[in-house]
Amino acid sequence: MKGIIVAIDGYSSCGKSTLAGDLAKTIKYKHIDSGAMYRAVTLYCLNKGLFIGNRLDEATLREDILQIRIDFIYNETGQSDTYLNGRNVEKEIRSMAVTNNVSPVARIDFVRAALVGQQQAMGKAKGIVMDGRDIGTIVFPDAELKIFVTARIEIRARRRHAELAAKGETVSLEEVIKNLENRDLIDSTRKDGPLRQAADAIVLDNSDMTIEEQNRWLLNIFRDANHKRNT
Ligand code: C5P
Repeated sequence: MKGIIVAIDGYSSCGKSTLAGDLAKTIKYKHIDSGAMYRAVTLYCLNKGLFIGNRLDEATLREDILQIRIDFIYNETGQSDTYLNGRNVEKEIRSMAVTNNVSPVARIDFVRAALVGQQQAMGKAKGIVMDGRDIGTIVFPDAELKIFVTARIEIRARRRHAELAAKGETVSLEEVIKNLENRDLIDSTRKDGPLRQAADAIVLDNSDMTIEEQNRWLLNIFRDANHKRNT
């Protein structure tokens, strides 16, 4: 039986990628973390010195964009790692330097056009779970199942803070809150592919849920969606 497309969108640090990755593993679908692609382009800009103070050299990025290759390759633990032009950058793209600069890169029209095109190509064969900000609205408006994830800001900040601390990054909770609020604002107000809940998305507020609880919730919804499709 042909698979479906599961689109998972929502605010920063809501646990979308964990949710999407766990579902994909259980139902044996491909998982694409579209945020990792915007992060990889941002890392490219940082490494190439395209940020000059607060300004980004968009002209050079425009010339380079079609040569930026992003791949996802599963590692031995079953997680998919992000590769930028053949190099594993999974760890680097999660750094604070990338996190602080990604939203201004993600609002550029030609960056979005290039990445949305790649994402749509990845979903051609279906059987895919993709998470991001515009998956249910722009990338796959016809996705069979759309989820919109949200959680209270203090919960999201605490989760993100703990994640960074575990990686040895010392950042204050206030700084994390500021970053999340700033990214959410830029993501929701940009012209191209703004963060928006699709009209037919099912909302998940996971503020008071464990990972196991949210996984169970989503698996049930997925089974229902599949069942309805087949009856
Ligand atoms: O999901 P994650 O937080 O890793 O995404 C990083 C950034 O990439 C987001 O803050 C957003 O600016 C951008 N993004 C986007 N569209 C997507 C996925 C991510 O603009 N589909």
